[in-house]
Amino acid sequence: MTDLFYERKKVSEKMTKHDRDNAYSFAEGYKEFIDKGKLERLCVKYAVSEAEKKGFRPFEYGKEYKPGDKIYLVQKEKAAVFAIIGTNPLDEGFDIVAAHVDNPRLDIKGMPLYEDTGFAYMRTHYYGGIKKYQWTTIPLMLTGVVYKKDGTQIEISIGNEKEDPVFCVTDLLVHLSYEQAKKPLGEAFNGEMLNILIGSEPDPDAEKDKIKTNILKLIKDKYGISEEDFLSADLSAVPAEKSRDLGFDKSMILGFGHDDRSCAYPAFKALMDKQSVRRTAVCVFADREEVGSMGITGLRSNYMTDFLIELCENSHVNVRKAFANSKALSADVSAAVDPSFPEVFEKQNNALLGCGIAFNKFTGRGGKAGASEAGGKFIASILNELDKNSVIYQFAEMGRIDAGGGGTVSQFLADRNIEVIDVGVPVISMHAPYEVISKNDLYMLYKCCETFYK
Ligand code: MN
Ligand code: MN
Repeated sequence: MTDLFYERKKVSEKMTKHDRDNAYSFAEGYKEFIDKGKLERLCVKYAVSEAEKKGFRPFEYGKEYKPGDKIYLVQKEKAAVFAIIGTNPLDEGFDIVAAHVDNPRLDIKGMPLYEDTGFAYMRTHYYGGIKKYQWTTIPLMLTGVVYKKDGTQIEISIGNEKEDPVFCVTDLLVHLSYEQAKKPLGEAFNGEMLNILIGSEPDPDAEKDKIKTNILKLIKDKYGISEEDFLSADLSAVPAEKSRDLGFDKSMILGFGHDDRSCAYPAFKALMDKQSVRRTAVCVFADREEVGSMGITGLRSNYMTDFLIELCENSHVNVRKAFANSKALSADVSAAVDPSFPEVFEKQNNALLGCGIAFNKFTGRGGKAGASEAGGKFIASILNELDKNSVIYQFAEMGRIDAGGGGTVSQFLADRNIEVIDVGVPVISMHAPYEVISKNDLYMLYKCCETFYK
């Protein structure tokens, strides 16, 4: 259901009583998911443990699966595909919801440690599109894995719990910022300035680099990691705070990485809540979307299609026919109108927070470039199903035509001859350390995915 004009009603004015009762409790599960899964690897880990409880088992190559089987594939710890085999033949097509579980953050460099004027720091290389100044003066946590040459893996998570210390990038005091304040936003802070403060006390026995040596000693004692081990680490700094209800009415959530975990979670939950399906239902957690989906865990890699091809071949079904009959939702967030910045939005065709999930017929930039576009016939068939299940949606583009833009994984599904449309939760402050979404929109995406999986 939708209202066509920009005086769109809020979801809360239109939703059923049943949905009203469910939406806020659904948000509690979501907050737990994003607090535990601040990186793609942690999202995959959490989801796999939940899926196991629901009877999902690791996918095996060469095995023929039967209707009702629940399986998952984990791709190099950072991406995953979950599926329930349908009762219909596989060549009638897959219903795929693909979301991404990576999000913008500060990755720790391979040789990160240095000391300057009585402080120890770690150098970072940011991942994804960020406004760099937003990442200063907020508490950061370190999270990731250090892989040692002997095969051991050391999990790092410092700053997520109350008793843990946190880290931060400092910023110049305003009193001495006359020159800094004259610079454009993109120049006042550059990538090499995003160094994380990690200590200030010396090792009295050290000859030189006393502060750095002291920090290395502490790391060695606690984790058994030496300076060289950072070379084979996947370590990142992310906002330390947990997600919180936002507003007197608690109608919104302030949290890290709603892009795109606010879409990954509803898609995943919808699949987990299915007992059986007619068409084989697939939920994808992709990595690397924020940097263009390149890399072995991004959706340009073949792991998702290889998984689907395996299912078809082992069931002696024509895989090309299966793809041609497949449907996909590229579940990714949409830019919600921020009334503080009206100049970049075109309200009539942009998403409004709290007014339902936002379909994007296309993404891209500058004349629809660099993206796929969903056909009207496909859209009509999807909307017909959603209307029957009281899913509240709106249609959106990302801001004004020439203000900027962005892409999603939809084009990589379209590359495989899978019909696809973008849909997701509207977000304010996208890619900031803390983003804003509406609980009711989040729940509507769950209902959308629930309807989509048949
Ligand atoms: Mn996204
Ligand atoms: Mn993004």
